[in-house]
Amino acid sequence: MKKIFLCSICNINSGTCNEDCKFCSQSVKYRADIERYHHKPIEDIVNEARYIERKGALGFCLVTAQKGLDDKTLEFVCNVAHTLNKAVPRLRLIACNGTASREQLDALKKAGIAAYNHNLETSEAFYPHVCTTHSWQERYSTCENVTASGLNLLTGGIFGLGESHDDRLNMLRAIASLNPISVPVNFYHHNNALPLAPNPLTVDEALSLLRLTREMVPNADRIMVAGGRELLFKERTHEIFNHGVNAIVIGNYLTTSGCDADKDLQMLKALHLGIATSPKDASP
Ligand code: SF4
Repeated sequence: MKKIFLCSICNINSGTCNEDCKFCSQSVKYRADIERYHHKPIEDIVNEARYIERKGALGFCLVTAQKGLDDKTLEFVCNVAHTLNKAVPRLRLIACNGTASREQLDALKKAGIAAYNHNLETSEAFYPHVCTTHSWQERYSTCENVTASGLNLLTGGIFGLGESHDDRLNMLRAIASLNPISVPVNFYHHNNALPLAPNPLTVDEALSLLRLTREMVPNADRIMVAGGRELLFKERTHEIFNHGVNAIVIGNYLTTSGCDADKDLQMLKALHLGIATSPKDASP
């Protein structure tokens, strides 16, 4: 039976970022109507972790909305990691905290973080069209730091920002060059406060991009569909599993509601797909 890795995202700090990424409602610049807070209370994080672990999630990603780690955020993420590793030890903790140095990543690893997620987002050439406050190269360097620190690297991107097909190919080549363990694939979810046009991709185009991702990053253990899944694929969501996908994000996303976790579990059951109980368990 093919098994699917389930991952959940926890926004432990939300909507406070000073960067200008045009696809991101967490930037303070665009004043999107989202919930904004500095530190989510630890009891809430533990409750979310326990809930999603009961649903079968193995990955739990601690996301902060800022350009990168500073001392205060690093301390907060490390404290959350210590608490979660005691309270919900089965979960594999992933940190997603932006630009990070080798030393900061070493500290996260010591605190019990298993993997770091830092997406390249798009190609190097297209990146200045969607972000002017930091460079693509800085993102690539953080990914290299992740591997050097011994953490597992998760890196992927977003389709549907207005990029060309060549940009997509170049992004996937760059991702493959970093040898990630997992590739999170997002589909741009438009918000009227953001300056980009809505995502132009059709479902068929999106499915071929998933197939392309699997083919161009053959060594990754997992191709994971993350943001934008419900909005784009709707009743055709089940088809993603025929296009190389073996991981999904369940529960809510950072600033948008996902589909009810139970609905996803029912879908997997109806498709005769199992749930991975260890990271290596997710079928290729
Ligand atoms: S750096 Fe991250 S959180 Fe900040 S605006 Fe860009 S994508 Fe959003």
